Amino acid sequence: MTDKPAALVAKLAREHGLSPDEYAALIDARTPALADELAGRAREVCEAVYGDGVFARGLIEFTNVCQNDCYYCGIRRSNCACERYRLTRKQILACADAGWRAGFRTFVLQGGEDSAATDEWLAGVVGALKAAHPGCAVTLSVGERSRESYERLRAAGADRYLLRHETATSAHYERLHPAGMTLGARLACLDALRAAGFAVGAGFMVGSPFQTTRMLAADLAFIQEFRPEMCGIGPFVPHHDTPFAAEVPGTVELTCYLLSLVRLAHPTVLLPATTALEALDPCGREKGILSGANVVMPNLTPPEHQGDYALYDGKPRSSADAARKWADLAAQLEPLGRRLVVDRGDPVAASVSVVSPAAAAAVSSAQVAVVPAAALAPVSSAAAPPSCPAIPSTKASLS
Ligand code: SAH
Repeated sequence: MTDKPAALVAKLAREHGLSPDEYAALIDARTPALADELAGRAREVCEAVYGDGVFARGLIEFTNVCQNDCYYCGIRRSNCACERYRLTRKQILACADAGWRAGFRTFVLQGGEDSAATDEWLAGVVGALKAAHPGCAVTLSVGERSRESYERLRAAGADRYLLRHETATSAHYERLHPAGMTLGARLACLDALRAAGFAVGAGFMVGSPFQTTRMLAADLAFIQEFRPEMCGIGPFVPHHDTPFAAEVPGTVELTCYLLSLVRLAHPTVLLPATTALEALDPCGREKGILSGANVVMPNLTPPEHQGDYALYDGKPRSSADAARKWADLAAQLEPLGRRLVVDRGDPVAASVSVVSPAAAAAVSSAQVAVVPAAALAPVSSAAAPPSCPAIPSTKASLS
């Protein structure tokens, strides 16, 4: 490691922020040793804020009908080979019931931008979930909608909303999406979601076509400034029936490096070890956790529909029931020194040492003391768990 990256790592850990140029320098300077150093610091910061718990979200992919035509996505409107489905409210509630019994306390309803998922219908589903499982958290991930729609869904009891910004560079956004979809519209939705009172999740793909280091640096700067409560970061993985079928996938290595940078830039962020990591590497989930992630999102969608919610090739599927998934996850996390917890896993608002005035204003009353990252000794690589100790290196077979 040269002095410059070491100084930047120290600055990031101390101030929780860098300039885009500094982020770009750290991305370009990455080495296995630097990645280990960042991952160790990211784990320390994560555990100082959230302890050794890992939060589970039960993912219910309730519709793959989508009016959008994003070039990277397997459920895009133009993909005629995609068999479309919609779950009924009853089916969704059955997924959640099984999940609740297993230990899940957050349910994520994700879908394409499906006009059948009206405000009224979604509000009814949210209300029914809350009535069936008082105390559960409901996260929605159903794309761009109007301010009124977001307000209505929030009033119905939805707690959180995931809407990745995908890339914070406008010209890049336009190369990933057809005309009519703009970064400006997406960011306006994120603002509207926050104004409606949601805990908001942004995020981006790593290694998407045309992406450069500068663009990733802009993504990190955006996360640092906007300070979303959640941030989904996953590698781009091509889908064979999309215009990006022949594009090169992103890497687990760079995605994990960025997870560590995001954790250090924004210590209180809820950071999932995303499914796309697992699609590229059977140890992807563990590697994400070891890089600073503290959320996992197992799929509670009925097995007969999981194959149709194919955002990208190789997306893991499992016919195991919710209880089995919970037990497997707990066992997977244990060697990493982490516990799967029966908890909603709400975001904590933090008083970090450096926040922008806008971010400071957004901090709610529920402040918690965060150990300044600078006070924490970096974890030496000797103390870090070896990567994926008990996991076979061959790709696990999908059932
Ligand atoms: N309609 C919802 C859900 C979209 S799918 C919405 O608009 O938010 C959820 C996420 O999957 C997307 O935000 C995108 O970042 C990711 N995704 C889609 N296709 C992908 C691909 N080929 N590789 C990796 N991630 C992909």
